[in-house]
Amino acid sequence: MTVTEAGTAAAPVPTQATCQSTYQTRVADYWNAEENPVNLELGKIDDLYHHHYGIGDVDWSVLDEDEVGGGVGGGVGSGSGSGSGSGGDRDDAAKRRDRITAELHRLEQAQADLLASHLGALSPTDRVFDAGCGRGGGSVVAHLRYGCHADGVTISRKQADFANDQARKRSIDDKVRYHHRNMLDTGCPSGAYAASWNNESTMYVELDLLFAEHARLLRRGGRYVTITGCYNDAYGRASREVSLINAHYICDIHPRSEYFRAMARNRLVPVHVQDLTAATLPYWELRKQADHLVTGIEETFLSAYENGSFQYLLIAADRI
Ligand code: SAH
Repeated sequence: MTVTEAGTAAAPVPTQATCQSTYQTRVADYWNAEENPVNLELGKIDDLYHHHYGIGDVDWSVLDEDEVGGGVGGGVGSGSGSGSGSGGDRDDAAKRRDRITAELHRLEQAQADLLASHLGALSPTDRVFDAGCGRGGGSVVAHLRYGCHADGVTISRKQADFANDQARKRSIDDKVRYHHRNMLDTGCPSGAYAASWNNESTMYVELDLLFAEHARLLRRGGRYVTITGCYNDAYGRASREVSLINAHYICDIHPRSEYFRAMARNRLVPVHVQDLTAATLPYWELRKQADHLVTGIEETFLSAYENGSFQYLLIAADRI
């Protein structure tokens, strides 16, 4: 709160580095407080922290109750049969949980790899920009794949600090850096980036403002990629399920059409569009059954996809 010379309290002015609205402060509060096991337990496996969903076929054997001789057992037994005592049962349950956690992480990693594969031909001297970077996994994936420099920004100071710690532990902090900034107003240099992306973070901002910033950051011929949930214009308006997802995450899911309109207005020309809805359903089916990781939004995502009101989309565009 600033106080004028006359001593009266003025309305708060957004003077922080992030220049954020009250809404964005609430979003930052959410991510500063967020410690969901589905984000932390998966990330711990190999220190790649993703806060997005997964794609691809599930290895359903991870759900099997009985593990025989270290391999995955064939039957779906009750687990209460002969052999192990209660300690053994507990171990089996823990191993099953670990298998499910690892499988979900594999599917999230596949999603990150798919996004990275669309970033274009990058070299180690190129810079890439990760808008709404979460705990930083996406930038690490891009760096490991291309050797490039990466800048990630998040509205959550805690996430930026966490991600920078991770980069230091990997000794890649000379090339991969995270910043506590507003992705609509990053202060990063114009035309400096060969590629940029939003992985499940476009629903927190107005697309025109976001794409104007990407167009400013990207060099001519640079590549922009997003993977996002969007509502389906062909369904009509936002369904009940889409509204529930908005309330759960404090976000505002855009219709599919708005992506293409806003890109066209901001020098971003789509080169590849992929509907990942069918590819993400198995992830949600498995996650629904992961009692140790569920957040309570699983059934809503499944219904939203299944009733046709919601789609999981990848869009890659060239900056002209
Ligand atoms: N892209 C990451 C995280 C997705 S979660 C991943 O794939 O793992 C959504 C992210 O968007 C969070 O990190 C949140 O802090 C960020 N975010 C939301 N609004 C933002 C804004 N205005 N500026 C920067 N980051 C924002």
